Amino acid sequence: MAKTIYVDNAATTPVSDSVLEAMMPYLKEVYGNPSSLYHVSEEPKAAIAKARDQVAKALNCEPREIFFTSCGTESDNWALKGYAVQMKKRDKTHIITTNIEHHAILHTAQFLESQGFDVTYLPVNEDGLVTAEQVRDAIRPETGLVSIMYANNEVGTIFPIPEIAEVCHEKEVILHTDAVQAVGHVPIDVKAQKIDMLSLSGHKIHAPKGIGALYVRKGIMPVNLLHGGGQERGRRGGTENTAFIVALGQAITDAVENMEKNTDHCRRLRDRLIEGLLAIPATRLNGARDPRLPGNVNVSFEGIEGESILLMLDAYGICASSGSACTSGSLDPSHVLLALGLPHAIAHGSLRLSVSENNTDEEVDYILEHVPAIIERLRNMSPVWDKENQRMIMEDDNLKK
Ligand SMILES: *Cc1c(COP(=O)(O)O)cnc(C)c1O
Repeated sequence: MAKTIYVDNAATTPVSDSVLEAMMPYLKEVYGNPSSLYHVSEEPKAAIAKARDQVAKALNCEPREIFFTSCGTESDNWALKGYAVQMKKRDKTHIITTNIEHHAILHTAQFLESQGFDVTYLPVNEDGLVTAEQVRDAIRPETGLVSIMYANNEVGTIFPIPEIAEVCHEKEVILHTDAVQAVGHVPIDVKAQKIDMLSLSGHKIHAPKGIGALYVRKGIMPVNLLHGGGQERGRRGGTENTAFIVALGQAITDAVENMEKNTDHCRRLRDRLIEGLLAIPATRLNGARDPRLPGNVNVSFEGIEGESILLMLDAYGICASSGSACTSGSLDPSHVLLALGLPHAIAHGSLRLSVSENNTDEEVDYILEHVPAIIERLRNMSPVWDKENQRMIMEDDNLKK
């Protein structure tokens, strides 16, 4: 294979040089348990405090409002399960979320339903967005928690979190947001935006996999997910992963410091990709054009299967992701694309490219040089492609929006 073009940064990112350099000493020389009392523990303890300051500064909160976790999934589980236990004590049993959340939220919400909670899954519109009005209309006297993602991992839409927070604040309902895709890419200020809890993950912003954090506003007490030692002020047991915590501190600092520059760069590449791909006949963009994450491209090509596009792209060294079987062997198209109202047949032919500051114009040239020919080849083999009319043959034309 000639080269690797990695455009799947919404799935994970490579560790950056500055992050690796910052974390290295804590994998080797600085090995002390941060909770111990001898001198070997002072350095790791100080390093964790510094990382907590860095994360707090990036979100504009107090360091004591930041709790380190093992991943974004843990942060989401903790926020929902931990707060559900608290709100039930006040007879609040209703939770509001959306139907395009990450499975870390959706499956946790389903678990809570099995435990007697009532969950409303707000439907998104065809652009993949919900409004603050929808949230307002769904709030009931027994609503205790709203959990709505900041930005969607598949279609890149950015939700109106400050407006939603305003509604929650007014109705005295706690707002959690899964900001794993937004942190470092979109300006976030938890104070100004009135966010009560926020999940983030390191490996989406060039820290290693296996580190995350949960911001919990002072005064809110989700019960522990992990009971154990007194780490994280007694609220999350487990010996601290010093090296990865240091990595997260460095990664979020880098991301926030370079946000403007990186956003301009990613947006330009994204827009070139969108324009180039939409020039292919019978192709549509999934998710709102704006507001959209600077690095997200998600398109559907009628008449083909996402997996076959991925295999062909891989033969050219291009790593991307599709709207179908991305979820471990399942043949169902993504719940996100279906929620946007795409017919199954079209959702199946979807492709997500997510660029980062590491991608270049030359890589975009290369992708745009090869994808149109790949699509044409696949369509020529497709039993559902009408070559003459350059459209998909569908049994029910009403399905074709
Ligand atoms: C990646 C991701 C997660 C999960 O984070 P992990 O650290 O991989 O557990 C949660 N939510 C969203 C929106 C994500 O993109």
